[in-house]
Amino acid sequence: MQILHPFAGSVQQYNEQLSNPDAHRPGRCPQCQDKHPLTAHGFYTRTLIDTAFDGVIRVRRYLCHACRRTVSLLPEFILPYLRSSLTVIALFLIARLLRGQTIESAARIAPPSMPYQRGQFWIRRFRARAEALCAALAAMTQPVPAPDFVHRALTMLESTGWIAAHRFLFAGVRCHLLGWPRGLAPDGCRAAFSSGAAPT
Ligand SMILES: [Zn+2]
Repeated sequence: MQILHPFAGSVQQYNEQLSNPDAHRPGRCPQCQDKHPLTAHGFYTRTLIDTAFDGVIRVRRYLCHACRRTVSLLPEFILPYLRSSLTVIALFLIARLLRGQTIESAARIAPPSMPYQRGQFWIRRFRARAEALCAALAAMTQPVPAPDFVHRALTMLESTGWIAAHRFLFAGVRCHLLGWPRGLAPDGCRAAFSSGAAPT
C-alpha cells in the first residue's frame, strides 16, 4: 500500500532526508490498524521526471509485523504509477487545457525529452476524471463558473494548489488525480491482494 510522505521541498532535499527512517515512520499500520510503529523495510526505486530532475529516486518502505504487509511512503510531489512529477503534469495540463496552447508548446514547459504521447495520455485521463474531481474538490474550495468540467477542475486545482489537492484526495478518499490504473480502482489497492499474508 502506498501512503503519502508529508514532505515539501525539492527532490534533492527529499533524497537527503531519506536516510533517517524515524523522520516519518508511521505510528500505526494503515492497513490492519495495528497500533505499533512500523519497522523500516528498505527502499524501492522508481524513475522521476521533475522540472529540474530526471533520474531514479528511492521510496522508503515499512513493514507491519502484525499483518506482514508493507507500506511505502511516496513523496507527495509524485502521483502513483506516473513517471513525471505532479508539478510537470500540472504545468502541462494548465498550458494545454486552460491556456489553450498546442500540445507541442505545452510540452516545452515540461522537460525536453517528453514524448507527445505522454501529454495526450495525461489529457485523456484528466478529461475522464474532471467531473469527479470537481465534486471531490468542492470540499476544499468553492466551485467556480466555467464552460465545462475540465476548466472548472483546473481552476479549482489552481486555487487549492495541486499538491494540497493531491494530499487531500489521496489521504481522504484514496482518489488519484489522473485516475488509478485499471485493476487498482477505486482506491488504489488490489481487490484480491493476498501475497503479503502471513503463512498459517
Ligand atoms: Zn498491519
